[in-house]
Amino acid sequence: MDTKYVFVTGGVTSSLGKGIISASLAKLLQMRGYRVTIQKFDPYLNVDPGTMNPYEHGECYVTEDGAETDLDLGHYERFLNVPTSQANNVTTGRVYSTVINNEREGKYLGKTVQIIPHVTDEIQRRMKILGDSGEFDIVITELGGTVGDIESLPYVESVRQLKRNLGSDDSVVIHLTLIPYLAAAGELKTKPTQHSVQKLLEAGVQPDILVCRTEHKLSIDVRKKISLFCNVNQNAVIESIDVDTIYEVPLMMEKEKLDKVVLAKLRLPTSTDANLDKWKDFLFKLKHPKYEVTIGLVGKYVELPDAYKSINESFIHAGTENECKVILKHIHSENINDENAAQKLKGLDGVLVAPGFGDRGIEGKIHTIKYLRENNIPFFGICLGMQCAVIEFARNVLGYTDAHSTEMEPNTKHPVIDIMESQKTVSQKGGTMRLGAYKCKFTKGSQAYNAYGKSSISERHRHRFEFNNKYLAEFESNGMIPVGINPDNNLVEVVEIPEHPWFVGVQYHPELKSTVENPHPLFVKFIKSALDHAESQRA
Ligand code: GLN
Repeated sequence: MDTKYVFVTGGVTSSLGKGIISASLAKLLQMRGYRVTIQKFDPYLNVDPGTMNPYEHGECYVTEDGAETDLDLGHYERFLNVPTSQANNVTTGRVYSTVINNEREGKYLGKTVQIIPHVTDEIQRRMKILGDSGEFDIVITELGGTVGDIESLPYVESVRQLKRNLGSDDSVVIHLTLIPYLAAAGELKTKPTQHSVQKLLEAGVQPDILVCRTEHKLSIDVRKKISLFCNVNQNAVIESIDVDTIYEVPLMMEKEKLDKVVLAKLRLPTSTDANLDKWKDFLFKLKHPKYEVTIGLVGKYVELPDAYKSINESFIHAGTENECKVILKHIHSENINDENAAQKLKGLDGVLVAPGFGDRGIEGKIHTIKYLRENNIPFFGICLGMQCAVIEFARNVLGYTDAHSTEMEPNTKHPVIDIMESQKTVSQKGGTMRLGAYKCKFTKGSQAYNAYGKSSISERHRHRFEFNNKYLAEFESNGMIPVGINPDNNLVEVVEIPEHPWFVGVQYHPELKSTVENPHPLFVKFIKSALDHAESQRA
């Protein structure tokens, strides 16, 4: 079968949940046996989101092959349980850099280089890379931004051209819109949707399906009206009502028959249904927890929960696996000091110290860890969180009161966390960290080994600094054990304190690999130890 293409655009406002709708549709198609992938095209000029402040754009999601990408790719992986790659996320910055490089190399043979055809050709080439690989039956392409924005235009134009070139049954356009409810009039309003479809039509694209985000149910009359004014079939007006959890959206889309309408447009069989038994089991457990734990997430980007998206979702997966509701408390590390740590961390059954960059809030993280270590409260440190655990141990157990990471204190006498030799000469910021999947080998009997149930694993990275192996023996003989080592370069990947009920710091980012189907073992065991802790407090 030829690869089929589904394009997802958005209108009226941003934040309508295009990523979740795309992931949900992909799940429904996958559960019917199709090989599906999702790619995201972002209209901003950054080459990738790696250099963007998490406050602006949420977390930067890292793929197996080390691409720094949009956080929507995290949703794709969590829903589909299939890894994505650099090809799944393209930005205007990346497209333009290719076009400009081509021009400098003389590849355009002296032509005037223009948005149409050169930029739009490059966009289309990239839209088809995954489809042409032969690995997928259906490729869903999500266009970031909102139709009508200047920067979205080349993408909509590319969809128009690509649609023309593909077979008539090989592509479908889904447009996401908002149907606002005017309380004073007591009515749902379709006008913004009509206008946004007109915008698409101006650019030459007629959507086939409208997914309408709404706070109230769409009546038959409203559906009829949208169908008439926007020129789509009535069964192609899909209601997307607000739900409690994103994990309910695939079931909601199934009820609205989004997958069937898509398949019918693509002339693919619709007689069977998607097998969602496992998904439903997960959702049932999520909604009917037997236990409850309270976990602190200590970091510096607490104002924007999207900054820790994958961590938040990993807790949902791991909680569900333990039949346990995880109440997550985001705590600003800047507000914690040695005196108030006990009070700030009161009532927590476990604490995750978050990844991050720069020295703001770093001392608060170190005080937090000291308190957790001394009071036997489960601790999970990720990346910078692990590095802080190493610094804390060096200061308070080894007695190196000035110990630090050279990221924060380049002149410290005890650089227990230091920059890698290979990073010393790097001056460019974008895409230059240790990125993507690296191997790790565990010591048998460690918490990490017990959690994974095997000794060789691979996890994703995004950092510049490392445990300084000069101090390794000293840490070990004083009780902090490097139980996970990269077998290729000897770098420390995991540290633990065996004396403590659960004290695990990882240099990598386990949260990037937790999915609905495969909750991450370290998160699962961390929640388990938090449950044990809660139990012991009650006893
Ligand atoms: N800032 C630290 C480093 O670069 C940790 C990075 C992180 O937490 N992702 O090594």
